[in-house]
Amino acid sequence: MIVEQIWTANAYRNFNYLIVCPETGQALAIDPLDHQKCLAAAMEHGWKITQILNTHEHGDHTGGNGAMISATGAKLLAHKNAGQRIAGIDRGLGAGDIIKVGKSVELEALDTPGHTMSHVCVLSHTDTPALFCGDTLFNAGAGNCHNGGHPSELYQTFANQLAKLPDQTLVYPGHDYIANNLRFTLAREPDNRKAQQMLRQVSDQDPSRPLVTTLALEKEINTFFRLYSPTVIAKLREAFPDLPDDPDPRTVFLKLRELRNTW
Ligand SMILES: [Zn+2]
Ligand SMILES: [Zn+2]
Repeated sequence: MIVEQIWTANAYRNFNYLIVCPETGQALAIDPLDHQKCLAAAMEHGWKITQILNTHEHGDHTGGNGAMISATGAKLLAHKNAGQRIAGIDRGLGAGDIIKVGKSVELEALDTPGHTMSHVCVLSHTDTPALFCGDTLFNAGAGNCHNGGHPSELYQTFANQLAKLPDQTLVYPGHDYIANNLRFTLAREPDNRKAQQMLRQVSDQDPSRPLVTTLALEKEINTFFRLYSPTVIAKLREAFPDLPDDPDPRTVFLKLRELRNTW
């Protein structure tokens, strides 16, 4: 499997992706908002885009669909319940559905509500799994729930699905927010040395050659995976004095998400 991570350099800091079967050159484009950059990358390497996958319905993920389909005739895949909000879906995806790309690549759809209620992530069936997580999981952060989502569903997705994936899973999010997210992690957990070190490392990174994190690293630097950290809990109790001294992880997640909204 070839993964081409495409930095759009737009104001929303979107990443687009091409997932390519090296045997056939067939490619699936994830959220190809910058259809021109995606098409140019495919052209340069001789790849043929045959499928488009939208992780969810927001315009910064679906906005390239029309031009991409006109240029390639690619089939459009998205969550099976997104049909009201994404035009022209050819295949609706549910949990566990398999997406084949060419001969050699298999992706599994995960039903991951929270950022919106019709959001899919896809996980590659490769020796080292790769997770394409749209606006659900970001490097060192989590998606917001302002536009059609629910924080409690996002918590369930993190706790019951994402946290259980293999530690070596590579994380490919829909946006480059890593530096700002690390600053939030450090606001909630100032003694997180790994997050301090990572912030120094990425603060001047070129987003066209971004760091690709693993789930193991996310569990160290992403405050939304650090629900049992004594520092996180102690600082939360400063902000929310009514919290018990051993709050359950769901409560910690929801309070962190609430603070992040106005941070
Ligand atoms: Zn979104
Ligand atoms: Zn987005």
